[in-house]
Amino acid sequence: MTKTTTSFYQSVQNYFDEAAIHTGLPEGLLGQIKICNAVYQMRFPVKIGNGVQVIEAYRVQHSHHRTPTKGGIRYSNHVNQEEVMALATLMTYKCAIVDVPFGGAKGGVKINPWEFTPGQLERITRRYTTELIRRNFIGPSIDVPAPDYGTGSREMAWIYDTYRTFHGDDIDAAGCVTGKPVSQNGIRGREEATGRGVFYGIREACSYKDDMKALGLKVGTEGKTMVVQGLGNVGAHTAKISQDEGGIVIVGISEVEGAIYKKSGIDIHDLIKFRKETGSILNYPGAESYDKKDRKSVMEFECDILVPAALENQITAENVKKVKAKIIAEAANGPVTSEAATVLQKGGRMVIPDVFLNAGGVTVSYFEWLKNLSHMRFGRMEKRFNQKQYDQVVGVVEKLTGKKVDKRDRQLIVRGADEVDLVRSGLEETMINSYNEIREVMKRKKKIKSLRNAAFVVAINKISSDYMALGIFP
Ligand code: GLU
Repeated sequence: MTKTTTSFYQSVQNYFDEAAIHTGLPEGLLGQIKICNAVYQMRFPVKIGNGVQVIEAYRVQHSHHRTPTKGGIRYSNHVNQEEVMALATLMTYKCAIVDVPFGGAKGGVKINPWEFTPGQLERITRRYTTELIRRNFIGPSIDVPAPDYGTGSREMAWIYDTYRTFHGDDIDAAGCVTGKPVSQNGIRGREEATGRGVFYGIREACSYKDDMKALGLKVGTEGKTMVVQGLGNVGAHTAKISQDEGGIVIVGISEVEGAIYKKSGIDIHDLIKFRKETGSILNYPGAESYDKKDRKSVMEFECDILVPAALENQITAENVKKVKAKIIAEAANGPVTSEAATVLQKGGRMVIPDVFLNAGGVTVSYFEWLKNLSHMRFGRMEKRFNQKQYDQVVGVVEKLTGKKVDKRDRQLIVRGADEVDLVRSGLEETMINSYNEIREVMKRKKKIKSLRNAAFVVAINKISSDYMALGIFP
């Protein structure tokens, strides 16, 4: 008999059940937190070429304990109701973990976006948005989509424009979707946000001497080796920021066309340039190449940190024993099945879970939504004021000491924060605080053996307190 892999949705439910027992909360309340509140399945026709194609699509709102609900829209051939339910469920816990005041949601359109022209994609996106508007499944205070696998700022701009066409009188219309281009009421730093958050999460995890010692690793990120599966938005930014700001050495990368490994390190910027020029990462100078059919061997590459940054169910009961990395950093949603996660935990590996690690995207989406509701760019009010004050402080220091501050130092000190500085700083604060909250729960409760288990406990407790405040549950 062939062994079936635990489904993605089942994995998420397993993680919930494993955490729920540590919370001591009543069953009814746990049941309410666990289930999906609303599932909207749709089929709509779109003119493609000379014919008409019927498109299958979904929007799932997992939890209304806080509104709006929030979560990306995925364009992929693998989309199905269970997958979208799993992703929406993860969004609820993710938002709770990083204190973003939204319920979880997710959308999916069952298409391979790379098979369609931009014009066709625009028609599909606008039609999907119209369906959401008709059912009241989108709006700045209802449900706010964002990019996910297969979508980006372009699609978000179409969604925003479609929404505005129907709701021209809504002064907050820009808050109906996040991840928009900066010129279309987006926010600086949103595109890199998930990858940047992944780096901050990894850096925080690596900052604890004892935790690193238990893995046989040195403290800090400098010199650690990393393998990244998938060079999409999340994978590429994670790799770039880890290399540039963390001194991490990228030794392996995989993409649709295959995988490469180079023990001495791959300069990620150079590799991205190489792929642009040749159309492939394969045959990158000095690297071993594995073609398309062997690309999954990326999971088995020798490294300290493995970053699955593509889709779910990549590390399963079948291949988990071959994983050599000490730290598995879940940049994608659900890359490790619950069965495989148990094996990794028992084997003493550290898995930094998706519900925390990739929450940088939704965190900066929250900042974008706030910007849209306030109708003003972050930093606009205080930047110059701060600059003048810092300048005065430097002047006083110079007067008191009788020494002149170096011109470069002065420039650095007196600089007021721009929007992107504030976004990065807010993201860094969020990732550091959330990691420590999770880690402390794990250290405090002996029975909690993994960061994921702790993260789910944190999430369930936070969500339950919202329900408790309503007095519905005893
Ligand atoms: N799709 C991203 C995620 O899975 C971002 C969601 C958002 O920004 O709302 O977290």
